[in-house]
Amino acid sequence: MTCKGICIRHKALKPVGTGRYSNGQKRCQICELFLIWDGLWCPCCGYRLRTRPRNLKYKAKLRARRKIQEYQLMIQKRQ
Ligand SMILES: [Zn+2]
Ligand SMILES: [Zn+2]
Repeated sequence: MTCKGICIRHKALKPVGTGRYSNGQKRCQICELFLIWDGLWCPCCGYRLRTRPRNLKYKAKLRARRKIQEYQLMIQKRQ
């Protein structure tokens, strides 16, 4: 799996005001750039595209949301 240079044609520009993933862009680890592409696989190298951020901020947000849900359940049970 190598970059053939096709990905340049599908290269995504950095969106203003929103994240890349929330804007529908996908990341190819092999080509090392963000693509505007409907498929799950890179049209250039054939590697699976990443559609979600891997960063800790995102995970922390998810964890916080889960904690809030647990808390709300706890309150509901008490009533
Ligand atoms: Zn490529
Ligand atoms: Zn690629």
